Amino acid sequence: MTHITIIGGGIAGLATAFYLEKKANETGRTISYTLVEQSDRLGGKIVTQTVDNFVIEGGPDSFITQKPWGLQLCRDLGVTDRLLSTNDAQRNVFVLRSGRLIPFPAGYRLAIPTQFMPFALSPLISPLGKARMGLDLFIPPRMDKTDESLADFMRRRLGQEALDMIGEPLMAGIYTADPERLSIQSTFPMFIGLEQKHGSLIKAMQVAKWKMYRKKQQQTNGSTSQAEQNGKTTTARKLSIFTSFQGGMSELVAILQDQLTGEIQLNSQVVDIRSANSSASTGKRFEVVLAGDETRTIKTDGVVLAAPARTMSSVVQSTLPALTTALSNIRYTSTSTISLGYRRQDIISQHDLNGFGFVIPKSEQRHILACTWSSTKFHHRADDDHVLLRTFVGGNGQEHLVGLSDEALITLARMELFITMGITATPVIQRIFRWAEGAPQYDVGHLNRVADMEQMVRQQPGLYLTGSSFRGIGIPDCVKSALDTVEQIWQDIETP
Ligand SMILES: Cc1cc2nc3c(=O)[nH]c(=O)nc-3n(C[C@H](O)[C@H](O)[C@H](O)COP(=O)(O)OP(=O)(O)OC[C@H]3O[C@@H](n4cnc5c(N)ncnc54)[C@H](O)[C@@H]3O)c2cc1C
Repeated sequence: MTHITIIGGGIAGLATAFYLEKKANETGRTISYTLVEQSDRLGGKIVTQTVDNFVIEGGPDSFITQKPWGLQLCRDLGVTDRLLSTNDAQRNVFVLRSGRLIPFPAGYRLAIPTQFMPFALSPLISPLGKARMGLDLFIPPRMDKTDESLADFMRRRLGQEALDMIGEPLMAGIYTADPERLSIQSTFPMFIGLEQKHGSLIKAMQVAKWKMYRKKQQQTNGSTSQAEQNGKTTTARKLSIFTSFQGGMSELVAILQDQLTGEIQLNSQVVDIRSANSSASTGKRFEVVLAGDETRTIKTDGVVLAAPARTMSSVVQSTLPALTTALSNIRYTSTSTISLGYRRQDIISQHDLNGFGFVIPKSEQRHILACTWSSTKFHHRADDDHVLLRTFVGGNGQEHLVGLSDEALITLARMELFITMGITATPVIQRIFRWAEGAPQYDVGHLNRVADMEQMVRQQPGLYLTGSSFRGIGIPDCVKSALDTVEQIWQDIETP
């Protein structure tokens, strides 16, 4: 019987295990697997703590539904009824500019204005900056197909101010990355497609808006197509762009854990993968060696590397030395989230929390990157008498802050909330999560380097790369990478 070892119990590893089982059930083929996780829990970056009616996220607080694979996993697990949409009645996002929180003007799609009046009236961008953004309508598309940085792309199309006020805090913020190094092809490839197709981002967004309007009209006229009438599409339409679970993102992990029937080994760190040459007697392709005891090995036909590239680089040293260097060349930054819960009555006179939170451009020189007003963004994050805020620290150029003591981090977060929002109240609960070297950096040229790595692993049949280090950091991207990996495993099994 074919046996696969999956290294890493984050969403990528869990989804690989789930789809491996699903595929086996569908095809009637027997396949076994062992999922090996170094820590004492599953979920990796997904971690939720429920304390005194606060639901506190340490890592992701939601996933995007516009990329279909996260939602597909929820459907395949049969848990779409547990999904929680954002509280869209209060869907404002603010940007700190000259010390003031300025609402993001209505009608923006992916940092590009689609409505003239809210854009024209907004104080977020200066009149000169707006005029420069408008030039996007006339600037011809770039013909060179090589990768470029997010900063170069935005500067070229929309100007420096749009980069500083929108691109850097909003988009580079998702990756906690330096926009001057962040690869546009790896992170926002849709921009390149829009530029190529329409010659202008603003024009492209207007076309998209018009199409959406037409679609809505057709639907209200009762001309909904058969495909749109099926239950799946209806579920997708009702959900907000960002979706979570009522009990927090860890619910997804718990559900996966419940449904998996294969072997799961916690507290088991993989330190080496030996190829068939050194484990010839077993009849298996690989021997996966666990830390602590040389005799703790797993003999296996295939190994899915679903842990961060950085930690996997030393593990593949004896099997595929060239891959070691390539994996270790992926950069990571460190971040931290600091959640503070307050009594509502202590906050309400200081701030109305009417929105999902705010982002901070680098030029403001603050010590936090952003703040999510978690209990406004989602219901069920605090009871009616309390509110929950979450600040982000670290990332590009500010990683040293992640190493501060708990006390110093809390003081820093409270000071920043005072400066940005005027909050002086004392929190009733505080939680810190540190993600040392937790955010992979997709530097310019990343996709080419990933393609090279994928080429390398094809020289070692039975080895697979999966997860957030490669083709997307979001949860839906990680699920997609798991789906692709399972397809690849199947192809390899069927055509050995
Ligand atoms: C603060 C924060 C906020 C985020 N917000 C969002 C969001 O809102 N939406 C979104 O879609 N994404 C978000 N992300 C990104 C997303 O959460 C991650 O990219 C994704 O969860 C990573 O999943 P993964 O399985 O690739 O890796 P991980 O979650 O890192 O899992 C890898 C696992 O491998 C284990 N491991 C490592 N080395 C070994 C070894 N040698 N042997 C055995 N096991 C090992 C680790 O312990 C870990 O459990 C956020 C990330 C962070 C840090």
